[in-house]
Amino acid sequence: MKNIYHRPATLFQTTTPGASNVVKKVTFCLLVFLSASCMFAQQSDAFTIKSIYDKALTEGECHDWLRHLTKEIGPRLAGSPGAEAAVHSMRRLMDTLGFDTVYLQACTVPRWDRGAPATGRIINNGVIGTEELRVISLGNTIGTGPNGVTGELVEVFSLKEVEDMGAAGVAGKIVFFNRPMDPTQLQTFRAYGGAVDQRGMGLVVAARFGAKAVLVRSMTTGLDDVPHTGAVALVDDVEKIPALSVSTNDAEKISRLLRQGTVEVHLRSNGRILPPVPSYNVIGELRGTTHPDEIILVGGHLDSWDVGEGAHDDGAGCVHALQVLPLWQKIGYRPKRTFRCVLFMNEENGLAGGRAYWDASNANNEYHLAALESDSGGFTPRGFSAQAEDAVFTDYYRTINDWLPLLEPYGLHFESGGSGADISGLKSQGGLLLGFKPDSQRYFDFHHTANDVFENVNKRELELGAASITSLLYLIDKHGL
Ligand SMILES: [Zn+2]
Repeated sequence: MKNIYHRPATLFQTTTPGASNVVKKVTFCLLVFLSASCMFAQQSDAFTIKSIYDKALTEGECHDWLRHLTKEIGPRLAGSPGAEAAVHSMRRLMDTLGFDTVYLQACTVPRWDRGAPATGRIINNGVIGTEELRVISLGNTIGTGPNGVTGELVEVFSLKEVEDMGAAGVAGKIVFFNRPMDPTQLQTFRAYGGAVDQRGMGLVVAARFGAKAVLVRSMTTGLDDVPHTGAVALVDDVEKIPALSVSTNDAEKISRLLRQGTVEVHLRSNGRILPPVPSYNVIGELRGTTHPDEIILVGGHLDSWDVGEGAHDDGAGCVHALQVLPLWQKIGYRPKRTFRCVLFMNEENGLAGGRAYWDASNANNEYHLAALESDSGGFTPRGFSAQAEDAVFTDYYRTINDWLPLLEPYGLHFESGGSGADISGLKSQGGLLLGFKPDSQRYFDFHHTANDVFENVNKRELELGAASITSLLYLIDKHGL
């Protein structure tokens, strides 16, 4: 059903002039009746949503599940024993949550091993002598070899600067990408999006012009001593060179020293690219009672980086997704549409799980009415981003915004924008793609670092996220789009 709250008058048209008074009276009575029933529907939804929040905050299990995923299983880099343990553990958990089918979906994931922690130091500097740097290998990169790499740093602030310098400027040197995330962006994910090309593509651009290694300023809004890892892109016809990330405090220090003269560093990293291995998405499904051909998906990614515990990224998203069906059951709601909970594998360094899911779904001519990914952390909910094909987006966006009176009391709003990497390939099915958007101010304090641990996820904030997602998906399931 569409637009149930605000547009009842469009159902009635007075087309016969002679009978206009009668029609007006009947219309008026029907409008009174209809708006009363709409008000009742809205009150009933408001009551249901309040019940969802009450249950999440008093009987929610997601925090315990996150403790298990982070403390008992730990880091879950795709292809690692931790990821495999997580697959089987989450399958067993899903078996207890009320789905009528739980299964694994195969995918082939790249395998990367960091080896011993990387080291870096400024050497023989005219101002400070020799000092250690806080560095970490970037994902998918090769190591420097046992002797490390020594070279002069060339500081740049964009990929284009490297292209403009060409081989004359960077060959035989270590390219230091030092453009900070823009602190004026209120949504830190926008600042991340504006800076992360340096980490993702810096290696390829620098290697093309003969650089011997790459050092990238960590992707964080803060100034601290913790280096952030993350994936780099590799291109077949470009030589693989070592790439490391350096803490923002050390990046600032290097930049200051470069204003006073040349800076030479010694870097040692130990990454190894290994042959791909089989892995799995974990999927739970409950067939819809009246619209089984329309699928509503909720998901997060089960893999994480190998440092920290993958608590915010993306253990929180996984347990948000797992919590939806149990919350519906606690309030006695059975979905009309087919509900699927998907824990995707390998979002961080390959997206193999996402691709396997949407390739199979598209090949089977499935229709996802809505798909929601939670991959922005377990912080206080602020709302959802929404995207869809142009032809349907305006209608969908109007429908979900009609529900705002029900969601605003919980601090939720909608914005148009990207949803989630793992579900992006479902867009062509014509449904609505959603991203859960919690407060983003602290996310990059933890993202891809040793600090992304269970202790840094607040129980109530996590539960409120699960309640927010469950409430929106309840409205979509009950009313359609
Ligand atoms: Zn993530």
